[in-house]
Amino acid sequence: MVDFELTEEQKAAVKMAHDFALNEMRPVALECDKEGTVPESLVKKAAAAGLTAMAIPEEYGGGGLDQITASMVSEELAWGCAGIATTLGANSLATTPMVIAANEEQKKEYFPRLCDPDDPKFAAFCLTEPGAGSDAAAISTIIEEKDDHFILNGQKCFITNGGIADFYSVFCTFDKEKKYGGIGAVVVERSYEGVSVGKHEDKMGIRASDTSEVIFDNVKVPKENLFVPMGQGFYNVMTTLDLTRASVAALATGVARAAFEEALKYSKERVQFGRPIIAQQSINFMLAEMAMKIEAGRRLYQLAAWKAHKGLPCSLESSYAKAFCGDMAMEVTVNAVQVHGGYGYMKEYLVEKLMRDAKIMQIYEGTAQIQRLVIGANLMGVTDTYPW
Ligand SMILES: Cc1cc2nc3c(=O)[nH]c(=O)nc-3n(C[C@H](O)[C@H](O)[C@H](O)COP(=O)(O)OP(=O)(O)OC[C@H]3O[C@@H](n4cnc5c(N)ncnc54)[C@H](O)[C@@H]3O)c2cc1C
Repeated sequence: MVDFELTEEQKAAVKMAHDFALNEMRPVALECDKEGTVPESLVKKAAAAGLTAMAIPEEYGGGGLDQITASMVSEELAWGCAGIATTLGANSLATTPMVIAANEEQKKEYFPRLCDPDDPKFAAFCLTEPGAGSDAAAISTIIEEKDDHFILNGQKCFITNGGIADFYSVFCTFDKEKKYGGIGAVVVERSYEGVSVGKHEDKMGIRASDTSEVIFDNVKVPKENLFVPMGQGFYNVMTTLDLTRASVAALATGVARAAFEEALKYSKERVQFGRPIIAQQSINFMLAEMAMKIEAGRRLYQLAAWKAHKGLPCSLESSYAKAFCGDMAMEVTVNAVQVHGGYGYMKEYLVEKLMRDAKIMQIYEGTAQIQRLVIGANLMGVTDTYPW
């Protein structure tokens, strides 16, 4: 039996997130986009509401939200501002590899730091490198055993919250010759000697979120910080992304919904040729397409999240959701600008920002092409796209 009814708990979480988006995010979204920052006061309020530690289990102080609720909350936050939502949500990406593989001591040491409402900290997921984006197995950040510790050397790029994180979950190789088989992961604290933040990226969209280089120069990492042993790192990354892509699809749906609402409102107000433009069939049909595709996208991300929540294989559904919702957000926001005519091209109108914000949904956590690669491999009966 299929039941689309939300539980009372889910309704309350979605309402709380919507109110937060409306009252705390929307009023500052344009300013944050312009300045490229998120105010500390907003981060504190978000942390107090549990919005920076949604995926962390309750026993460590987190929200312990199931994937379905967490993704619906993400839709609401992205409706408020995708840049701020990316900042608040990045802890989930950084900690999912640890939820999967870290031991009890590691979880107890690091998770509570992200859950303190008075002094909320951030973590960052460090996989991408200048020479290894879609081809994650090509990473060359190298870790070597030396006496009672490890030495880490390498450079990560495009790291969300890289410049503001307290600690990093770092994927690295023990032996580059082994490719997939050489990868593991360690927790690295920002305060360790040899850790530095490089270039802060000046972006097209989601400008409120910090995207930075993180550099490791002969960093001494305690052995107990290893949470994914050599050989299991690539599997950990793929499992992590299977679990988190529903939330990116939800972010994309939130951006699309915000653009649709703006376009609908404008089309009823704007009069040309003696009647509101919504009465023109070409505009009316554009809005109908938007409404239909947003609904379809929401069902796809909910299906992926439901499978993840049930512990079922969800790689295919996560890729359906991420690919569809990323493309859908781009299409909807482009058309929302079109409905606004010349006004939509002006920064004064929210749709201009939404169109810039939408583009990242086709890029991060696996591009639109990589999602199709996963889906296509499944169609050929190849379920292990990567020979880990
Ligand atoms: C704002 C932002 C935030 C990010 N945050 C993080 C983060 O927190 N942590 C992190 O580790 N990374 C992060 N990333 C990195 C992001 O995940 C990568 O940018 C993305 O995976 C693509 O890698 P790339 O940029 O190197 O592109 P490339 O892999 O070089 O791809 C270039 C183009 O080639 C296509 N392509 C590549 N390989 C194939 C193939 N086999 N088949 C078909 N097409 C292919 C791609 O789809 C793309 O269109 C972030 C990126 C951005 C822009």
